[in-house]
Amino acid sequence: MIRVDNLTMRFGGIRAIDDCSLNFAAGRITGLIGPNGAGKSTLFDVVAGGLVPTAGTVRLEGEDVTRLPAFARYRRGLHRTFQIAREFARLTVRENLMVAARGQSGEALAAALFKPGHVREEERAHRERACEVMDFLALTPLADAPAGTLSGGQKKLLELGRALMSPARIILLDEIGAGVNPTLLAQIAGHIRMLNEEGMTFAVIEHDMDFIAGLCDPVIVMAEGRVLVQGPMAEVRADRAVVEAYFGSAA
Ligand code: ADP
Ligand code: MG
Repeated sequence: MIRVDNLTMRFGGIRAIDDCSLNFAAGRITGLIGPNGAGKSTLFDVVAGGLVPTAGTVRLEGEDVTRLPAFARYRRGLHRTFQIAREFARLTVRENLMVAARGQSGEALAAALFKPGHVREEERAHRERACEVMDFLALTPLADAPAGTLSGGQKKLLELGRALMSPARIILLDEIGAGVNPTLLAQIAGHIRMLNEEGMTFAVIEHDMDFIAGLCDPVIVMAEGRVLVQGPMAEVRADRAVVEAYFGSAA
């Protein structure tokens, strides 16, 4: 579904991504792990269109999208979440979901003000979809709560919900589990698995190895902007280079 070839992303003297090639296969939940600074979030930025790489190509279902803006990739079904959730604190959970859906329709001001039929129709569709998404994520009791009052874990759920409001067929999740309690994390894993069974493709950056082990196949280990190893979690865990990347050569 996503394929990057010989990707390099330089920031001044730093090579955040260094001649990296990998792919996220359709129908899979691919795990992306590696020490801090390995280039994982930067890779997501380049794949989603937030950054234009110094060199290399990004393909989405075979199409070269390296120079396509983020919104064009979004319309083609690619959605990413951010390590720091970007919800609107004063809007309610329901409003946050509806805004996420609206982001894509390129709504003109005049249309928003005068609400011709098709705009009203679209708004009703978004409202219905928001209800379904809240049901699915068990967020319905929080529908009218301002997003700023949610717990860290609930914000992550909302972040996933915003992805589900988009026309996504592949979702890139950047540390959706960070700061989330184990119960909620298990719930999030369940949601991801269920969505995957319905055909959604995922790429997941996460530090929690049990979360990755229970969810992802294959797992790609990045270090210093490159792919160190990839394969099923059991193989990756046993790999000497991986152990060294995480714990230093003393291990
Ligand atoms: P990870 O997500 O694996 O922890 P990042 O992709 O965030 O790693 O960072 C990879 C490297 O690129 C780090 O050395 C980081 O400091 C650097 N980096 C990331 N974004 C920028 C930026 N916008 N400007 C300069 N350096 C950056
Ligand atoms: Mg990161």
